[in-house]
Amino acid sequence: AAVDANSILGHPASLFVLFFTEMWERFSYYGMRALLVLFLVSTAAKGGWGWTREEATSLYGWYTMLVYFTPILGGYIADRMLGTRRSVLLGAFVIAAGHASLFLDTRMSFFIGLGLVILGTGLFKPNISAIVGQLYNKDNESKRDGGYTLFYMGVNAGAFFGISLCGYIGEKISWNLGFGLAGVFMILGALQFFFSQGIFGDIGGTPKTAAENKAAAAADDTPAHIVRDRLIAIGVFSFFTIFFWFAFEQAGGSMTIFAADYTDRTLVGTSGFTFKVINSLMTVIPTAILTLLLVKLAAGTGKRYPLGNLLLVGALAVIWGLVIWMLGREFAMDQSEVPATWFGVLNSFFLVILAPLFSKMWDKYWNPSGPVKFGVGLVLLGLGFAALAYGASGIPAGAKTAQVSMIYLTLAYLLHTMGELCVSPVGLSYISKLAPARLLGLMFGFWFLNTAIANKIAGSTGSYIDHISATYSMSGFFLIFTIIPVGAGVVLMLMSKWVTKKMHGVH
Ligand code: GLN
Repeated sequence: AAVDANSILGHPASLFVLFFTEMWERFSYYGMRALLVLFLVSTAAKGGWGWTREEATSLYGWYTMLVYFTPILGGYIADRMLGTRRSVLLGAFVIAAGHASLFLDTRMSFFIGLGLVILGTGLFKPNISAIVGQLYNKDNESKRDGGYTLFYMGVNAGAFFGISLCGYIGEKISWNLGFGLAGVFMILGALQFFFSQGIFGDIGGTPKTAAENKAAAAADDTPAHIVRDRLIAIGVFSFFTIFFWFAFEQAGGSMTIFAADYTDRTLVGTSGFTFKVINSLMTVIPTAILTLLLVKLAAGTGKRYPLGNLLLVGALAVIWGLVIWMLGREFAMDQSEVPATWFGVLNSFFLVILAPLFSKMWDKYWNPSGPVKFGVGLVLLGLGFAALAYGASGIPAGAKTAQVSMIYLTLAYLLHTMGELCVSPVGLSYISKLAPARLLGLMFGFWFLNTAIANKIAGSTGSYIDHISATYSMSGFFLIFTIIPVGAGVVLMLMSKWVTKKMHGVH
């Protein structure tokens, strides 16, 4: 298939169309998710529903499970009926409709909204991930891993802005405005994708018919046992990734509790001014990187996709407007407290910064086999929890307040993010290399199933944090999450030879 002739940073320009579409979708997903529990547990006086923490985290667990369960249906629909591109578009509008529904202030519209986001994400998420892989073929194969890593940067740029903006607007101004804001950007992303669709040529169009698939399978000389072995390799990666996301999601929940209850929201050893400077840099650096990409994309494709471009430039103006507003607010406020939600942004911040370095590392310096990368990712995640266990070691069992330096939380997020870069974008790339073309969407759906399972388990075990830290200690809780991922990582590395064989030459 002919990929568009423009290239940006050595990748097809169409990768960046996907980058920005995915960025807005993740903006809406993470922005909304950041508000969900806070909104549910807030008292009626504060506009919330006054649910208990257990009730709220239970709904959160179901929601984050279902959002990653529906991709298996969306992937199947794309493979059989719609094709990946139309599925992405339809999904984007269903998600936006979901946010519109969340914006309306009734119980019924709230649950309808959640349902629509769940269904829309099922159509959107596996299929946009599949299109990324379709941009690479034997002519530019070596760029594929780097392409997925860049795409994953878009995921986290979206998470970064979504959590910071929707979080703030939802909490400080109005919950509904926060939920609605997420949808506005989803529509922007969908329109931009729609108006620049020409860039994809015949990629992601109508799927082949059953008869065509049969003919293609007959013409394909990959022996059946190789196809089967590669599917087994996908299964192994997916299975081990359950451990990764389980501990990773657990970290998000438990660290928020850790930060909120145990440091009493006070930043130890840092002045308010220093914190403002840190925050400003954290806002400006990712924005500058995005601006560079947006400008390059607009310059490279300006003549051919004028409407898509107009939307990109509009988005840029909106982002900078919001950033300037955020900075102004930051410096006007005189406080030295760290809100617990701040730590949620650290992960996506570190990811945006580290992604280019990892992409370079795989390219130039160190590129071990898939199972080793996944294994290293799991071990890094475990080490992040070890940092927390160490940081919390002074807290006696059952303590309700204690001071812990934020250094340990920051270090934990740094290690977790490094681990994530060894697992998540790498996983997407392997799916695109190992899955047979006619099952591409479905296999991406299958891949996200690991997150569905992990999110549900994390949601249920999260409620034990209080019990374990009261009976044993906070450290004890974190030690469990050191041992599980490190153990899983070591087992996978020991299986490395066997898994590599199953991949039959796919590196
Ligand atoms: N941060 C990733 C994303 O939202 C997580 C994906 C996953 O499989 N859990 O795309």
